[in-house]
Amino acid sequence: MEYNKIIAIVSLFTMILILYGPLVSAIKVDGDYPIELFDDFWEEKLTDTQYDILKESGTEPAFNNEYYKNKEEGIYVCAACGNQLFDSEQKYSSGSGWPSYYDVISDKSVVTRTDESLGMQRTEVLCANCGGHLGHVFNDGPEPTGLRYCMNSAAMKFYKSAHFAQG
Ligand code: FE
Repeated sequence: MEYNKIIAIVSLFTMILILYGPLVSAIKVDGDYPIELFDDFWEEKLTDTQYDILKESGTEPAFNNEYYKNKEEGIYVCAACGNQLFDSEQKYSSGSGWPSYYDVISDKSVVTRTDESLGMQRTEVLCANCGGHLGHVFNDGPEPTGLRYCMNSAAMKFYKSAHFAQG
């Protein structure tokens, strides 16, 4: 092969790497999720409170939210996209005034990232499917995980289990 051709091929590969490299890493940055909910969706489908929490990382008041005392059997899903987050069996009374869980339904339920807002270092919990903000996770939960997923009720929807009559 001619020397010039080798140079041309090597240059081409270098160009591809330079151009494609950032694209590959861009796929994994924050904000890239299996589904992308567009602004119209967020603004039209969600209530103001849901929008404030899921999209603006807001926090609802403790002891004044829908699910903190809920003890019914069922599952909690993301209020924006319907992704399954928590089972009622994973819920416990933390006393915090927010619905608390010691574990998630699956590894596709949530993702976490460091949150340094409000002068604290906390671990933010987001829906792994759409990136909506759900709450935070702390290390003071019960066994077997030792975790406390501290969630906003308004970021979730609860679906009660169906029970079928015996006999
Ligand atoms: Fe979601």
